[in-house]
Amino acid sequence: MKFERYGIGIAKGMMVTFKHLFRSPITVQYPEEKLAVSRRIRGNELVWYPDRCTGCATCAKSCPHGNIEIVTHVGDENSYVVDKFEVDTGRCMFCGLCVESCPYEALAMGISYERAQYRRGDMVLSKDALLLSDIRRPSGYARPKVEVTLPKQTLLVYWDKDREEGGQKVNFLTLSKKRGRGV
Ligand code: SF4
Ligand code: SF4
Repeated sequence: MKFERYGIGIAKGMMVTFKHLFRSPITVQYPEEKLAVSRRIRGNELVWYPDRCTGCATCAKSCPHGNIEIVTHVGDENSYVVDKFEVDTGRCMFCGLCVESCPYEALAMGISYERAQYRRGDMVLSKDALLLSDIRRPSGYARPKVEVTLPKQTLLVYWDKDREEGGQKVNFLTLSKKRGRGV
């Protein structure tokens, strides 16, 4: 107790300061640099696979906001042909219910999180805008087969596996060591 009066608290504080002084930065230069997001992210987009879609409209019925509009006609072999498949992503809350309910895995959440638009109308996506492309890729949300193909999430901080009971030990991962390959 007596010893503490002579600055052990200051020494402890300075030790923490020095430890952080020589640590590599854990920030990234967004948007030039981006971290790998969770493989099951519900990104602000949807990806639609027309070859798997039967036009059953289960996804549209599952949407609590009524965001999905589907128009079909009966084609050859008594199957539906999808004339219109439109999603108003401006009203979408990205709950993923439409994706979970699709019996044919014809709909997936996207992995992107940068879909801001200047005009509300641009957020209504038609069939062509929902197709898989280089910039529109599916997330592993409710799609385990897709999930295993995606890179693992890059984490800046994670809990120590063997943290002591009651303790809150964290490890800081330096991006210089981990960047580019995830954790
Ligand atoms: S995306 Fe799935 S649930 Fe929606 S209409 Fe197509 S097959 Fe049916
Ligand atoms: S993610 Fe949710 S809110 Fe968005 S279209 Fe699908 S069901 Fe509707």
